[in-house]
Amino acid sequence: MFSSPKEILLITIGEIDTTLIEELSKSLSTILRLRCRLGHISTPPLRAYDPSRGQYLADAVLANLHPGEAERVLGIVEVDIFMPDLNFVFGLADEKGKRAIISLARLKESFYKQPEDQSLLIERAIKEALHEVGHTYGLAHCRTRRCVMAFSNSVVDVDYKDADFCYSCKQSLRA
Ligand SMILES: [Zn+2]
Ligand SMILES: [Zn+2]
Repeated sequence: MFSSPKEILLITIGEIDTTLIEELSKSLSTILRLRCRLGHISTPPLRAYDPSRGQYLADAVLANLHPGEAERVLGIVEVDIFMPDLNFVFGLADEKGKRAIISLARLKESFYKQPEDQSLLIERAIKEALHEVGHTYGLAHCRTRRCVMAFSNSVVDVDYKDADFCYSCKQSLRA
């Protein structure tokens, strides 16, 4: 008897760069020891769109994701997402649940009127994905600023973090 590795379903919502998804899969499988399966949805749900803000409501996009047989589901959107009382969020997760999403909108250098930087975007996406999936395993925000579970207010904070969990968060993950 042997147990198959646990799966995470990565759902691209919209046209997401394939290299980014490949790199994201590699990191998630190495660091979280989850096997990645790919899925696709053409657009976020229309009812999640707030025309006055030009953004999508994060938890309405999240609610639309279903893990199926997989242990976790992670949605990757290109559109900008928000939560009430927050201008934007980089991502969102069901705490101790199965669903998480990240948005690439504000991880792109072009959002800040800078030339696009694909490898930087991929690195940021990996960090935010690990962070949100970490929440689904019950990890809270970490005070170790280099830890991927540290809270990020801006891309400066995202860039400061390592694309990995600190020792203490790793211990909690394994538990
Ligand atoms: Zn968080
Ligand atoms: Zn930590």
